[in-house]
Amino acid sequence: MEVREKVKIVITVASLVAATVLFVAEYKRRRHRRKQTSSLSSCYLHSELKPQFSFKRVLADNSYSGFKHLKLDDGSSSIEKPSNCHPYETEISVLLENPELEFEFLRGEYSLEMSDAYVWVETESKLKELAETLAKEKVFAVDTEQHSLRSFLGFTALIQISTQEEDFLVDTIALHDAMSILRPVFSNPDICKVFHGADNDVLWLQRDFHIYVVNMFDTAKACEVLSKPQRSLAYLLEAVCGVATNKLLQREDWRQRPLSEEMVQYARTDAHYLLFIADRLTTELRQRGTEDSSSPDDKLHFLLEASRRSNMTCLQLYTKETEDFPGNAAASSLIYRHLNGHGDNSSISLDAKFQEFVRELCAWRDLMARIHDESTRYVLSDQAIVGLACKQPTTTDEIYDSIAQADLATESSPSLSLSIQSPSAVICSHLDDVYQMTQDKLAKLDAILPVVLQKCLGSDGTCPISIFNYSLLVNFKTKLTSRSAPNQNGHKNLKQFTRKASRDLFVKKFSCKAPVYHNCRIYANDGRLLCYCDRRKLEWYLNRGLAKLVEEDPPAITLLFEPKGRPEDEGNDFYIQTKKNICVGCGEGNHYLRYRIIPSCYRVHFPEHLKSHRSHDIVLLCVDCHEVAHAAAERYKKQIAREFGIPLFVRRVLDSKEAQGTSSSVEYESTGNSEDAGVSPLHLRTAAMALLRHGKRMPSSRREELLQTVKLYYGGRDISEEDLERALLIGLSPHERRKLERKKGASLKYSTEVSHKDKQENSNIVEEHSEEAPGGSERDMNEEISIAADDSGNGLSGGDGASELNDTQCNGNTLHQQNSKLSLLGHGPHGKQIVEYLLREHGEDGVRDFCQRWRQVFVDSVHPRHLPGGWNVSHSGRRDFGEFSVYNPTKKLSAG
Ligand code: AMP
Ligand code: MN
Ligand code: ZN
Repeated sequence: MEVREKVKIVITVASLVAATVLFVAEYKRRRHRRKQTSSLSSCYLHSELKPQFSFKRVLADNSYSGFKHLKLDDGSSSIEKPSNCHPYETEISVLLENPELEFEFLRGEYSLEMSDAYVWVETESKLKELAETLAKEKVFAVDTEQHSLRSFLGFTALIQISTQEEDFLVDTIALHDAMSILRPVFSNPDICKVFHGADNDVLWLQRDFHIYVVNMFDTAKACEVLSKPQRSLAYLLEAVCGVATNKLLQREDWRQRPLSEEMVQYARTDAHYLLFIADRLTTELRQRGTEDSSSPDDKLHFLLEASRRSNMTCLQLYTKETEDFPGNAAASSLIYRHLNGHGDNSSISLDAKFQEFVRELCAWRDLMARIHDESTRYVLSDQAIVGLACKQPTTTDEIYDSIAQADLATESSPSLSLSIQSPSAVICSHLDDVYQMTQDKLAKLDAILPVVLQKCLGSDGTCPISIFNYSLLVNFKTKLTSRSAPNQNGHKNLKQFTRKASRDLFVKKFSCKAPVYHNCRIYANDGRLLCYCDRRKLEWYLNRGLAKLVEEDPPAITLLFEPKGRPEDEGNDFYIQTKKNICVGCGEGNHYLRYRIIPSCYRVHFPEHLKSHRSHDIVLLCVDCHEVAHAAAERYKKQIAREFGIPLFVRRVLDSKEAQGTSSSVEYESTGNSEDAGVSPLHLRTAAMALLRHGKRMPSSRREELLQTVKLYYGGRDISEEDLERALLIGLSPHERRKLERKKGASLKYSTEVSHKDKQENSNIVEEHSEEAPGGSERDMNEEISIAADDSGNGLSGGDGASELNDTQCNGNTLHQQNSKLSLLGHGPHGKQIVEYLLREHGEDGVRDFCQRWRQVFVDSVHPRHLPGGWNVSHSGRRDFGEFSVYNPTKKLSAG
């Protein structure tokens, strides 16, 4: 016993010592390298040749401008399509509507074995031959490898193409500028392209070569539809072909030439077996249809679904991420993660200087990465940024050391050929810039960009200009000159400036403070992915012992019980998609807020089971797209009001007594044909509040404007102070009235008495409450936003066990939430009356159709390009078991 313990201790001590020695040695080695590199006065790029610098045509450059998609010039169409449209949208839609089901992946004799022979395609003539060969095929298999560490946006380094007879490896570095030769075969709807997990490949082909895939069969989607226990290619290779692979090779440096024998083998394997796998999976899909259904129409359901999901992938469009200010999204997420990781007991990290420095470093890193065509990760790691921001080093040596230490401490797998050297070459040749930043010499964040650009790329630039960063410089120069020519049309500039400033303020105040979608995963106990959700939900299951944590980052849990339903039960893969934290309209990633597609004034009155508590109808939008969507929704509300004859606005009806000036009874107009004859309670209160508070000081034109609003309510007569105070209470619930009165206290001269009178008359009116109305036209928009803020926006579908649990969990504050949601209804009883009408006349279908109309309004106004896959206008808010679902209880009985 004792001896064993001693041995244990000795071993522990020895390994600690060894680790320390190794650490110190590595540290010294890095310091030494630094001494060598930092003495270089110019940029490392002068001596390092990166393969992409041989590219002559670059579609996605590193500037801040958007990506331009291929524009088909067929001459026939007179309508100018914007270049952010999918050039083959029509062709793909045709495939989605009339899916091909006569798949023939293999013909005649086929041997699964992979021979030694393959074709290495690295010249234009060979590429043309390949295109001719492929044009004769009905089907071919494709996979791509890309390189992302030493490039800002990444580039495709290899394309593997397999036909039944041959394997081709296309050297897309050597042939980068000639790849358009393959465009026709990829967009040919008569040739099926087999991929496995094509989501990224489709986008990469667009980004690098303007190659668009039309007609695809994705074996990963087939796995999904078949509910296979796993969907990885490695699993299929093993299970279907009996072939083992080492997926670690996928992270190799695919730029290297020649490729190692092992890499060639790996790359060929990724495409070679796909035709065989696709063949087997379609057989299974057909069989599953036959087993599960007697109706001949149903037999093809599984196949149809796999084909539909595959071609949906083709509709995805590559976009460059955009942000208001360079590096902002990265900075926010870094700060968020850091603060989260530290709980609330941290002192240094919370201070403003830390955040400011993180933002500066992220902006600098972003620009440096673009200039040098490196990934931001390569330039400076996240942990190094945190290290620098925490330590606030004051000398170049300290800067160097704190980066090296931060990276050494978190280095993951140093065995990979691509492990990052730290500090990177970019840091080493620009160490003085970082130093300047730490010394606050660059003063403000905005100042960093022009200085860095001038220094690196300007007339006396130190870093080479390439096709990747050229337009960065060109665009930036125009920006600089327009900025430094002030007061030419001073008034306009000022107006623009104030508009921008107020927009910025708005963004700051109302955009989501942290990423909305955490993309945490929940698996069923058989390993099937159920959904993506936020951290709170995971913790809820974990804390109750209902699940176990199976992955850390991003976290994933496996449920320890069998949920009642599965996501594909709805024939809708919406809930098992990761969701990006970007505006679904334009892709803006820097700020966004939640937007409810079905306006709350209606939704709150839906019967409980039709209220979708799920993420489908709450999307993220940037302020600009939010404004567009909101305006369209407001217009549509008016249309609804006309159509149903249920007005949006309230108006005080003058009864006979009041006409004589003796009574003050208040009613809501409940019939009537002119929705413009009244005013929304919200606008009324806002105007009244502003007049009461600032009426005397405000410019007369503004005062007149507000008075007109109030007069709309009082039928056009003159307005007294008493009228204004009463108007403050219009549409408020008794509770909210009391609250307002308490707040105002004695300052309200007339309201108390009025509120008593009005109580009864208003008791059947939709509850509303108002926070202090600051006045101004943005108010309505704010209202929409504040409702959305308490919705987690993401969750398991209603109806399965999980969601029920979650409802119980929320019950405690449901009431409160309901109230605060009601506060946003700007339209008194309109919403309630509409929903009641729908239910009375058309039942639940009426409500469902109504929701579809709102989704259409949203789509028509925003033209969203970034909706998650599976989102659709006809989504049913309710959970039904799909017709061909294996989880349909009736089917389960008959099958089992
Ligand atoms: P695959 O679809 O497996 O052929 O992967 C295609 C490319 O995706 C690879 O060349 C890598 O650039 C990238 N990739 C896929 N998975 C990973 C991963 N786990 N880590 C890093 N890169 C990956
Ligand atoms: Mn691959
Ligand atoms: Zn947007």
